[in-house]
Amino acid sequence: MTRALVSGAAGFLGSHLSEALLRAGWEVIGVDDLSTGRAENLATFREDPRFTFLRRDLTEPATFPPVDFVFHLASPASPPHYQRRPIATLSVNSTGTAQLLAHARESGARFLLASTSEVYGDPEVHPQPESYWGHVNPTGPRSCYDEGKRFAEALTMAWHRERGLDVRIARIFNTYGPRMRPDDGRVMSNFFLQGWKGLPLTIHGTGLQTRSFCYVDDLVRGLMALMEATSVDGPVNLGNPDFEVTVLELAQRIRALTGGRSKLAFVERPTDDPERRRPDIARARTLLHWEPSTPLDEGLRATSEYFRERAGGEVT
Ligand code: UDP
Repeated sequence: MTRALVSGAAGFLGSHLSEALLRAGWEVIGVDDLSTGRAENLATFREDPRFTFLRRDLTEPATFPPVDFVFHLASPASPPHYQRRPIATLSVNSTGTAQLLAHARESGARFLLASTSEVYGDPEVHPQPESYWGHVNPTGPRSCYDEGKRFAEALTMAWHRERGLDVRIARIFNTYGPRMRPDDGRVMSNFFLQGWKGLPLTIHGTGLQTRSFCYVDDLVRGLMALMEATSVDGPVNLGNPDFEVTVLELAQRIRALTGGRSKLAFVERPTDDPERRRPDIARARTLLHWEPSTPLDEGLRATSEYFRERAGGEVT
């Protein structure tokens, strides 16, 4: 049986990925320190005999069973979370990545790093192809995540070049869907919770900045295709180029989906917030024969339902 280690297995993406791997007949070792991941995300598959959960902080030395594939997703990923814990964010992306690269090497496993569109910073090239080196503020409040992931990419490539490790790098663009943390602080979770509570939707700045949103099921399919492709050289963007929307447009859509009671509140824009973001997915299309297929309306409806059930909680 194929066995994978998934770090960040209790997180939003990690839990969907673990579930999809189990569905495909794999054995999954899920690793998480439950700092931003949540045990409730494991509920639908925790009792599966092919799933093992290990609560581990990857920045501390740990041992893991041998595996065939390592998916390294562990890291805070929402701007409020990684900015609250910048040292932990840099540590899991440096020390944590080093530990899992070494484990992949010992196991003879293939290693996939979950990187991010944040490596492009506030991009001057639009849409962003993998060949673009980015425009990142190395000391700004987002640098713990941007530079942490850039270091993780560099370390992954160093293990490939120096030790011959078979590696994959996914640059993941904005992804949404059920199992996002309600207190995540990102635009989707904030707007849905605010909408369901009838509170004002907090638009940062003018709301004319854009993001491109990919539904989680499409993204997970992309991660599996990237891991399973026979040979891939260099990073691959995974995201949805068809749904680039302004924050303002997103607010209007979510307002309508949640009963239309909310006002729009224009609040201060965070430092270094990227102006525009859209993936160029030509490489994913060619190398993986992958592209997203979930319509935005369908994804938003499923996400809306998930947040409606959770609208009793706190909005950050
Ligand atoms: N944003 C917003 N209101 C919120 C949360 C976020 O207008 O309550 C904006 C944020 O400034 C950014 C965009 O929405 O321009 C996406 O932010 P998010 O935190 O979801 O992810 P990012 O793509 O910045 O990592």
